[in-house]
Amino acid sequence: MDQTLAGRTALVTGSTSGIGLGIATLFAAAGARVMLNGLGSADAIAAARARVAEASCGAEPPLSQADLSTGAGVRAMCDDARAALGRVDILVNNAGIQFTSPVVDFPEDKWDLILAINLSSAFHATKALLPGMLAHGWGRVLNIASAHGLVASPFKAAYVAAKHGIVGLTKTVALEVAQSQVTCNAICPGFVRTPLAEVQVARLAEQHGVNEEVALRDHLLAKQPSKRWVEVEEVARMALYLCGPGSGAVNGAALSIDGGWVAA
Ligand code: NAD
Repeated sequence: MDQTLAGRTALVTGSTSGIGLGIATLFAAAGARVMLNGLGSADAIAAARARVAEASCGAEPPLSQADLSTGAGVRAMCDDARAALGRVDILVNNAGIQFTSPVVDFPEDKWDLILAINLSSAFHATKALLPGMLAHGWGRVLNIASAHGLVASPFKAAYVAAKHGIVGLTKTVALEVAQSQVTCNAICPGFVRTPLAEVQVARLAEQHGVNEEVALRDHLLAKQPSKRWVEVEEVARMALYLCGPGSGAVNGAALSIDGGWVAA
């Protein structure tokens, strides 16, 4: 494995599972000192830490279990990261949740929670950590948005609103740092094989009275022309490029990795 991130430090939110864990693992393998964040069972968190430790030749990664649904929680995580890593060169805003419902029935507490975790946490973390990157003279802010940051689907009002919002936040931050060595970009994945997406297959199978194979192909992936999952590793490789040394001219971009979804 190349060591393109040797000497760099990275904080990846929501990295105890799925895409965040994949990014943290690849970044550790590429030489970065990585701090994990996320919720989950003690066993799941221990397994995530062990995986990242193995990728970085044994060093146990620091972990913040801060709940990112409040600004105070996000700021506590950023304080933990500075304490553990010295400074934060790379911030990956990845933590996110999903809830589906027709807009007229959408529970207000779910709306507030999705906006807080999927959008506001990225604002609070960027606000806390960007000054350090600018002072140090190099940095990367990477936001994990979604195809739903570019186009909509029914029943996902809060998620689509939050993901469109994070694409807008990405562009704004990018313009503010454009003349520095800091960049801010977004990745917009289609359906990626992770716990967050896999639970939707089971629900669609039940809803349409079909098996999970049919639910995946004909319902979940109806908008994804490749008709296959995007893999976590594929998203992590895009993240490594955007957070590495050769991507300094890529700024304010919302890069799709969706099997052709938004091309249709
Ligand atoms: P996941 O459920 O596997 O992981 C989500 C992570 O976020 C976990 O580590 C979880 O502990 C953390 N998290 C959730 N709520 C939190 C909170 N309040 N405080 C701190 N951490 C919290 O999901 P995933 O599929 O890996 O999704 C990661 C990101 O990618 C999300 O922003 C999601 O919207 C986005 N995304 C996922 C897909 C997909 O198909 N899986 C597609 C496009 C975008």
